[in-house]
Amino acid sequence: MPCTGSWQKAATSGDGYVSSRNQMKCKLCNEIKELKNSHIISETFYSGLYDKKHRALPIHSEYNDLSFIQKGIYEKLLCADCEMKISKWEVVLKRDLVDIGNLHSKFLKISKHKNNILQVENIRYKEFKLAVLSILWRMSISSHEFFRSYSLGPYEEKLRKTLHNELLPTERQYPILVSRYELDGVFYSELILGFPPSKYENILTVQQLIIWGHCFTIFVHDRIFPNLPVDIFLRESGNLYIGTRRFENLASKESVLARLFDKDVETMFEKKIEWTK
Ligand SMILES: [Zn+2]
Repeated sequence: MPCTGSWQKAATSGDGYVSSRNQMKCKLCNEIKELKNSHIISETFYSGLYDKKHRALPIHSEYNDLSFIQKGIYEKLLCADCEMKISKWEVVLKRDLVDIGNLHSKFLKISKHKNNILQVENIRYKEFKLAVLSILWRMSISSHEFFRSYSLGPYEEKLRKTLHNELLPTERQYPILVSRYELDGVFYSELILGFPPSKYENILTVQQLIIWGHCFTIFVHDRIFPNLPVDIFLRESGNLYIGTRRFENLASKESVLARLFDKDVETMFEKKIEWTK
C-alpha cells in the first residue's frame, strides 16, 4: 500500500501502517508493532501433509486452483506477543488431536462407545476452545483466497476481543462439535480442508474446517444455542464425544466436497499413501 502522506498522517490513517516500514497494527492487540509472518493454520497442523520436498496441498471445496504451498499459508498479522499467546493454546490442541487420532494418550482418557463414537475426557477446555476459535478468527481476517469463505462479519471483532482478553466463552457460546474422518476404517491426519459456511435452522451460521483429520463444526453465535443436546459439543468439564465419519461420504455427487475426489487431488493422495508405506 503506498504511503504518500506525511509520516504523521500515515500513522493516523487507520490502515495500520506507520512510519517504520516494519511496524504495523497487530490484528489481535491493535498495538503498533513489528509483525510476524503469522500462519492462519499453524504449521504444526501441516506436518503430516508435507511431502519429501516439504510441500503440502490444501484443498478447498469451492476453489479449483490446486497449488502446492511450502510453509503453510501465512501473512503479516500478529506481533510476537500475540503469536506466543495463540501458540500456547495450539500446542495443547495439537497434542490432543495427535493423541485422539492415535486413540492413545497419557493425558486424555479415550474410550470407544458403540456406533463408532469416541468419548474423550480430560480435555483442557480453555486451551482447546481458544485454539479452535483463534484458527477460525485468523481464517476470517486473512486476505488469502483460500480462506475467503470464512468471513465472520461482526463476530470477527467479538472474537478478537475474546481472544485478546482471554475471555473464555462458555460451552454454549460458539459451541464446537468434533468428528473424525476415516478412510476404510483408517484415520488419516493428512488433511486440511475448507468448507463454505452453512446455516443451521436459518438462524445460526455454521463454519467447518478439517485439520489433522478432525472436522470442527463451530456454531458462530454467543447468545443462541442450537436446539441440540449439549453433550454432543465440547464441554467445560473437558468431555468431548467424537463421531466417526467416512471420507467417502464427502464425495457424494450432491456434496460440494466431491472436489476431494477429483482426479488431481486423488493422485496427490495416492502419492501420499505411497510415501507412508
Ligand atoms: Zn499483538
